[in-house]
Amino acid sequence: MARLINLSAMATVLLLSACGSDSTIDESVDDVTEVPIADDESPTGACSNPVTELSSAFLDFVAAPNVTAVLSEDGCFVTLESDGKPDHTSSYWDAGNASGLYVEPEDSELFDRRRSPGDIEDYSNLFELTVPVEPELATVSSATPLGAIGIAISGTPIFNDSEGNGDVSAGVIDGFDRNGAHTGPQTYHYHLEPKAISFDDDKLVGIMSDGFLIFGRRCFSTVDYPTDLDESNGHVSHTLYTGSNPEDAEYHYHISNEQYLNAENYLIFPGNFQGTPNGVN
Ligand SMILES: [Zn+2]
Ligand SMILES: [Zn+2]
Repeated sequence: MARLINLSAMATVLLLSACGSDSTIDESVDDVTEVPIADDESPTGACSNPVTELSSAFLDFVAAPNVTAVLSEDGCFVTLESDGKPDHTSSYWDAGNASGLYVEPEDSELFDRRRSPGDIEDYSNLFELTVPVEPELATVSSATPLGAIGIAISGTPIFNDSEGNGDVSAGVIDGFDRNGAHTGPQTYHYHLEPKAISFDDDKLVGIMSDGFLIFGRRCFSTVDYPTDLDESNGHVSHTLYTGSNPEDAEYHYHISNEQYLNAENYLIFPGNFQGTPNGVN
């Protein structure tokens, strides 16, 4: 069950810079209360359609043991919190297997050579992301920063297509686990399709920091690969969480269905935010 606790949405926003730093969105996340969703005619002034309970998508997040979601008092924002540790198996859990979730890598020799230093247990984090319940498309898209740009339903942060020193390379991918993830300076994180969550399907993968949900490579609306995606692999259509009437269609993202580096690697989020990003701190 969701923990419904009234909480001020006035979260302090700090950027996580796990692989370095990038100041491109600093100004836009100085204060989450400035998220441009204000509707002057709304009774609360904070959003046009405040809600009284968490939507079913957020309930799927809190199904993970380490994720909480809290609705703000005004019903306009949801704050997700997670310790960043996934509820699925990985070769990045300590090989002593105290977690019960350690699995051998597919190619131990290659993994040992290419893996990032540090096991999942070595990191202690509390990630927090506050998003509007009704995210809106921004007038201009914005580049994603290094570090956490979203939170998956496993509680693990989603990163973009870069490491601190450039694009995710084939050598870096050799060090990923089966979920397209590795440990970083500050946290275990996904760069590629996390197969434990979604593998060539239309399941919910997570939420990006601009508040839009991200799904697997296929779309619920057609059960097929969407063909009307924008440059961020987003479009307006029905999802698992909307009704089927035309007015119920919502903007959402998909994992990129383009093979990355000519192999079965699918970047989660190589594009820009189409909404207004909030910080994942
Ligand atoms: Zn990384
Ligand atoms: Zn879709």
